[in-house]
Amino acid sequence: MTMDPARTDGGPRKETRYEARRLEAVQSMGILDTPREDSYDRIVRLVRASFNVDMALISIIDAHRQWYKASEGMDLDEVPVQETFCRRTINMNGPLVVNDATRHPLFKDNPYVTGEANIRFYAGIPLKTKKGYSIGTICAVDSEPREFNASDMQILDDLACIVIEQMELRERAMTDEMTGALSRRALRDEGGRLAALASRHRHNLTAICFDLDHFKSINDTYGHAAGDEVLIRVAETVKQRMRKSDIFARVGGEEFAILLPETDRKGAMEVAEKLRRDISGLRFEFKEKTIGVTASFGVAAFDIETKDLDMLLVRADAALYQSKNDGRNRCTGWGTGDVSVKSARRRVLKAGKISFMNGGASIDCTVRTLGQEGAGMDLISTANVPDEFRLIIRSDGLDASCRVTQRTRTHLEVDFR
Ligand code: GH3
Ligand code: MG
Ligand code: MG
Repeated sequence: MTMDPARTDGGPRKETRYEARRLEAVQSMGILDTPREDSYDRIVRLVRASFNVDMALISIIDAHRQWYKASEGMDLDEVPVQETFCRRTINMNGPLVVNDATRHPLFKDNPYVTGEANIRFYAGIPLKTKKGYSIGTICAVDSEPREFNASDMQILDDLACIVIEQMELRERAMTDEMTGALSRRALRDEGGRLAALASRHRHNLTAICFDLDHFKSINDTYGHAAGDEVLIRVAETVKQRMRKSDIFARVGGEEFAILLPETDRKGAMEVAEKLRRDISGLRFEFKEKTIGVTASFGVAAFDIETKDLDMLLVRADAALYQSKNDGRNRCTGWGTGDVSVKSARRRVLKAGKISFMNGGASIDCTVRTLGQEGAGMDLISTANVPDEFRLIIRSDGLDASCRVTQRTRTHLEVDFR
């Protein structure tokens, strides 16, 4: 049984609220932008073979794009989400079957039907979490019209259940298989307990967060297996320095957090500095080259102001973010230099709109970090975005004038003015 929090009769405010919660569900699943995995690849192969279709996909949908965890018969990793069949499936919060898109009133003029993609047939089922939020879809797609009967539907539905169960099992696991570090879930459980103790008895507790620098380029240059080896060796290195009571967790692809009970900020800064040096001293042999890797660190100590674990981690993360901005491969402590409540950024996954030309033009984006003084956002392409625009986050009632401070092909960092 799943609940169904999606309501179609609640008007735009309710829709915004549902979409905001749905995006939170996507974020807490922690699956976006993770590498391919055999177990999901096998399932899309099965879909393609069972229905004899051109394409089979497992997609996850954030605010601006449809990203593929697994795909068969499709080269792209992601497409803009506007007008996709999967977005429709998510909006309906139920299965969508289109036998012949050229005859379907909703899809006959759709660019994926009239354009190069040439879609005729689509059968998709939302991947619905236990709480009823559709985070993505599993679907079969073909360039010829097709029938899809009740038993076909049952097969696709069963596969959708297998996919979401697997995702939820991973999310609930207490350790990360690859690195042997604790999972995000375990960090939340164990860390929550430590934070409650620290708050009640005024025990010292510090958090160190770190993120490998330019890790994507290791994957891109030497392949995923090389990236995995780096992650495994980094985790081993960290574990050697940890005490038994410390908590070491993998909180994202190449992001880790450490909680040190009975350690003050000075002590934690020393640990972070040792780890930074250990990691930068590692050597790897890939494609007959010897390479190294570095990481950026942030440290925060539990104090009177710190309400809970989340706040402690947000602060360590803000300090980490400062280390990245200052040039990477360094340690920054919360409360030192320019890391402050005002400049602190929280990691989020929110739907945003970039608006310019006096509201005459707008581009969807996914806001990934947000603070009082600025934000960071992903979009399909930053090419047409001017240096100054308004960022609107409807779910938060935010409408801010922005100035771009950093720009890559798909990411913008902005200051609010
Ligand atoms: P920065 O210095 O700003 O942190 O740059 P970066 O390249 O490290 O950051 P970004 O977040 O752009 O890239 C992280 C990459 O990590 C993208 C993703 O494909 C990769 N990744 C995540 N999980 C894994 C994994 O389990 N194995 C491998 N090989 N790569 C992973
Ligand atoms: Mg990262
Ligand atoms: Mg990184």
